[in-house]
Amino acid sequence: MELAHRDITYCKNVGAKRADILRNELGVRTAMDLVRQYPYKYIDRSRFYRIAELDDEDTYVQIIGEVTEWHTVGIGKAQRLSATFFDGTHQCELVWFRGVQYVKLQRGVKYLLFGKPSRFNHTYNFVHPELTPWDKVTPEMTQGLEPYYNTTEKMKRINLNSKAMRGIIADLMPEVRMGVPDTMGADILQRYRLMSLTEALLNVHFPRDMQTMQNARARLKFEELFYIQLQILRQMKRREMNAGFRMPLVGQRFHALYKCLPFDLTNAQKRVIHEIHDDLKSGKQMNRLLQGDVGSGKTLVALLCCLLAVDNGFQTCIMAPTEILANQHYETLRHFLAPLGNSVNVGLLTGSTTKKQREPLHEGLRNGEINILVGTHALLEDEVQWRNLGLVIIDEQHRFGVAQRAKLWTKSRKDNSSSAVDAPHILVMTATPIPRTLAMTLYGDLSVSIIDELPPGRKPVQTVHYQLSRRAQVYSFVRKQIEQGRQVYVVFPLIKENEKLDLQDLQNGFNELCEAFPEYRISMVHGQMKAADKDLQMQRFISGQTQILVATTVIEVGVNVPNASVMIIQNAERFGLSQLHQLRGRVGRGADQSYCLLLTRTELTKDTRKRMDIMVATNDGFRIAEADLQLRGPGDLEGTQQSGLPFDLHIANLATDGQLLTLARQAAMEILDADPLLEDERNRIYKRQLDILRIETHNWGDIS
Ligand code: ADP
Ligand code: MG
Repeated sequence: MELAHRDITYCKNVGAKRADILRNELGVRTAMDLVRQYPYKYIDRSRFYRIAELDDEDTYVQIIGEVTEWHTVGIGKAQRLSATFFDGTHQCELVWFRGVQYVKLQRGVKYLLFGKPSRFNHTYNFVHPELTPWDKVTPEMTQGLEPYYNTTEKMKRINLNSKAMRGIIADLMPEVRMGVPDTMGADILQRYRLMSLTEALLNVHFPRDMQTMQNARARLKFEELFYIQLQILRQMKRREMNAGFRMPLVGQRFHALYKCLPFDLTNAQKRVIHEIHDDLKSGKQMNRLLQGDVGSGKTLVALLCCLLAVDNGFQTCIMAPTEILANQHYETLRHFLAPLGNSVNVGLLTGSTTKKQREPLHEGLRNGEINILVGTHALLEDEVQWRNLGLVIIDEQHRFGVAQRAKLWTKSRKDNSSSAVDAPHILVMTATPIPRTLAMTLYGDLSVSIIDELPPGRKPVQTVHYQLSRRAQVYSFVRKQIEQGRQVYVVFPLIKENEKLDLQDLQNGFNELCEAFPEYRISMVHGQMKAADKDLQMQRFISGQTQILVATTVIEVGVNVPNASVMIIQNAERFGLSQLHQLRGRVGRGADQSYCLLLTRTELTKDTRKRMDIMVATNDGFRIAEADLQLRGPGDLEGTQQSGLPFDLHIANLATDGQLLTLARQAAMEILDADPLLEDERNRIYKRQLDILRIETHNWGDIS
């Protein structure tokens, strides 16, 4: 029976019990699934080391030699066996803590030692090494690259360790060698110089040599990325067939606002407004991602786009992830629109909007009097019915679930059921710069606009890394800034598992600041407060009544207080890079020099130190995002799951496989350009494989 159809239960050395565990732990069902479990690393067993050559503690090595002396200490469970291993010129130590009774050592016997050395004083130690008498060493054991497989605790408990997996998979190789049906067409294999699936599977597990292993992996990575791109791009092609509301006019309100802006738009702002307008008048539904670093002026772009739609007779909405942000957008819009009098009607709908306030709002939305509705998730409530919603703008998209977006979309579809076109244009705005590879994968079905320029006159934020012990210095700096009329943020980490402790930290921090700055007023906000209290505290800071705002990351996105010039991040080691960058973006919004102080404890891990160094070195969000991806990337070799993807990557790695991704996308695009619905006979292989894989991707504009 074909590998793809054979239940793992009937594979050699598997059986019912192991099959159960494999299904539950790895989702492996068929013999082919087993063959598709790729090694996460390889150890070169063709190379023999001398003890004198050892210098790297992290890699496995093998050495030929004898055991010259050994002794046990302790009794029973606490027993420990130490032995001295001699390779003819140097010695090292072998240690066993477990299963000591099973270790049988003999003097005068040649052994093959295999294990991972660690240095202790001046000698190397091997803990629980594999020690095989030389006459038991088979040629296969020392041949080429030995594959290592991921296993779980439950698997190990029934002895399904990497070695057992290797054995099970090795037993399937003769069948693979007879040939497995390929999942990629011959033309693509040829054009992109890829191995056949058969060759790739043989060599990913038991590679002939390093180069062949890499070629095998490249083929499998290409395939993985190709199918994800094919799925994403197919979605995009389908959606491109959607008609969209036509908004050709650049009308009065747009011009009126444009004329009375207190500053010129940056070139980048102008460019993206053009890109968006091109979509709005195209007759196709827009699905666009607007990327722009914090402070790049996305809100104004959003407003101008709303006016484009309003001038064409449509309603629009701007959805923000938090109430604070929704309020702020509302205020910003009203401020900008003030000179236009009542020609634009803006509404605000959040969780705190009272029932009484809602009635006229609902009415205004139904009869079309409200042109722009700003709000939170409350926009998605069933009672919110539109007359003609034409443009949806979603700010800081990563805060929303996909399901919610879909809901908004359905709503307009239902409400415009009489109309020929039914999908509103969608603009997703994010301040989180996304590495190119991640963008292609997460938002691969969206058009992308980038605001890559800050308004003129902004001074880059200066970032300094301090140890917590230097608090006195930090305080005196803060005092000087406040004396100059500035305001200060102090942010504390808040991590869910530890919420109570964190709130305690926050409270302590607040008390400490109150003691240190008795002459100033201090606000505090955190996620556990009632929305009304939170808003009150925020408002006090925004209006300048308080000089210091102590907060958790609730202020992370969007908050705009240009007079605040200092951002202090407590326990900065507990924040990820993109979060630190977001927080830093809260300052540097006014004309004054701003500062970001990263406070950490003294002992730092290598990774934390790198994070701090990157923050100090650059303000460039894209560089930070790339560094973030690299740092969070794979631990051992690759295939580690990247957080935030709707699907698992088994072999490809977005941090390092950018080039392959570009090629895979290109290949997928070529196929779909010629055959958008994959109806062609020669593309059946792809359609079939997509059905088998069922890749889940974010679908930004459609409901699925
Ligand atoms: P973002 O949402 O992209 O982080 P905002 O829209 O909050 O940024 O804009 C930050 C600040 O810059 C706001 O005070 C805004 O009024 C101002 N701003 C926007 N565009 C310009 C411009 N072209 N020139 C000067 N200031 C601008
Ligand atoms: Mg913003």
